[in-house]
Amino acid sequence: MIGGGVDLAFLAKVFGWITVAIGVLVCLGYGLWRFLATALRAAASAFTPRTPGSPDPRIAPHPGNEPAQPAYWAHQMWMDAVAAAQAAARTVRYLLVRHWLGEIVRRRLLNGRGGSSGARAGNGLGRLVLRLVAPATALAALLSALLAAALLLLVAVAFGAQLLLAGGVALAGVAGGRGAERLWKLVRGIRMKCPYPGCYRPFPLAVHLCPKCGAAHRELRPGRFGALRHVCRCGHALPTTALAGRRKLALRCPHCDKELPAAVGTTRVVHLPLIGGTSAGKTMLMAAMLEGLRSWSHESALTVEFASVADRREANTLARQLETSGWALKTQGGQPRALMLLVGRGRGPLGRRRLLYLYDPMGESLRDAATTRLQQYLAHADGVVLVADVLAALGVRRALHEGDGRLAEQARPADLGPVDTYAAFTGELQGLSGRRGRLGVAVVVTKRDVLDRLDSLPRPKDPVGAWLEKIGLGELVRILGHDFAASRYWAVSAHAATGAGALVPEQRRAAEPVLWLLSRTGLRVDGTPAAAREPRLPRPRRRSDTAAPDRSSL
Ligand SMILES: [Zn+2]
Ligand SMILES: [Zn+2]
Repeated sequence: MIGGGVDLAFLAKVFGWITVAIGVLVCLGYGLWRFLATALRAAASAFTPRTPGSPDPRIAPHPGNEPAQPAYWAHQMWMDAVAAAQAAARTVRYLLVRHWLGEIVRRRLLNGRGGSSGARAGNGLGRLVLRLVAPATALAALLSALLAAALLLLVAVAFGAQLLLAGGVALAGVAGGRGAERLWKLVRGIRMKCPYPGCYRPFPLAVHLCPKCGAAHRELRPGRFGALRHVCRCGHALPTTALAGRRKLALRCPHCDKELPAAVGTTRVVHLPLIGGTSAGKTMLMAAMLEGLRSWSHESALTVEFASVADRREANTLARQLETSGWALKTQGGQPRALMLLVGRGRGPLGRRRLLYLYDPMGESLRDAATTRLQQYLAHADGVVLVADVLAALGVRRALHEGDGRLAEQARPADLGPVDTYAAFTGELQGLSGRRGRLGVAVVVTKRDVLDRLDSLPRPKDPVGAWLEKIGLGELVRILGHDFAASRYWAVSAHAATGAGALVPEQRRAAEPVLWLLSRTGLRVDGTPAAAREPRLPRPRRRSDTAAPDRSSL
């Protein structure tokens, strides 16, 4: 039986080779492509919505407070990629183990049934052939699965590299967008600060409100919620940079949640506190300054507008008070809300603007260190308007003759002289800001209409600094000259500049200190005195009628 044994071995060899040949042919001719196509289709379905228009269970709602969906590239893209890879791997495994080996080979071919139809062969020979084909089919399935897995791995690596590239591009967009915005803010000198009492805090990014649903977006900048735009939970797309249109959205302070003027994120803020004793004439001077700025805006390239509706309302109330009673009510409350004005030169993208915060603190609040320290806005001051009521200085009062003394008394002098007012707050200004030596101080001598009628004193005239020395306040001029980077002096009748029968030259004169301090921040407006090298001061016009005392801050 040796020959039979050889024959059997030979037959087994032949059968083996035929099996391998059929296996390879089936694999290359059909199995591999079937595996690849099914696995790729399964992977692709991980990137498409399951039911268009309905919520997708794969997308987990964002757990944070930001009412925006994280950007696709920041999170979901990687989830989908992993899901796709898993789907492909599961498909290959299913096709191999369950479909080919389990169903076709074991349950059909080995039982003498057709591989694709599942119908049992009619005779024994047919069933034998089907059973003999089973090993080749199993081999084809194994080969197809291995080759498909190798090719899919290559596809996955290439696809992963593309995702990395896409993620990198998105991250570069985020970095570029943030960098551009930071540079733009740096060039424009934009540092956002809250104008409201009790807050006055700086913040790098305001809270933006969705125009459609009002949701508060605290992170509306290029980042994980999107490079160019964030999609609000209501579905509305919000631009992430000021340059792309974010400036049109309503703003809130991230600390105190109060409404901010739209210009706060796009315009350099200039903080100017009006410093003076109680009844020194601060509020009335502020009203005169507003009138003066408005008047200059008619004559020059200067543009002036209220930063918000609240500011317009406040200014109108003040103007009405002056119109009816002739004086302003005393500044109330512990800490002032800044009156916000948009002051600029020219319009459009080439225009230059400043968001002017004018603070009118209550005189008493600057009398000692403890209350002055509460005036946190002093830390941001870009200059100081020192409101000087010289009639409050004891030395000046002593020099007045009897009749003049009565006039001075009627003018309700401030509680503190200018030197004492300055001394009370200056230590704190230095402590709060540490940069007094770089600031300018505009000294405005108020109640000029009264001073003009006093015979005991020389008439206040330019240069007002020299006049202050003449009436015995040289010390103030010297201290200010020493403490500040620059100091300039004006004498103004806020009374003549406000209310019924206001004088335009006096109004403009009242605005000059503000224009000068603004010019120190780089805003020089052609046609205004601050633009000229030598200040072109309008000649003061005396009021012909009997001037009432300047009773501002009453
Ligand atoms: Zn919304
Ligand atoms: Zn605030």
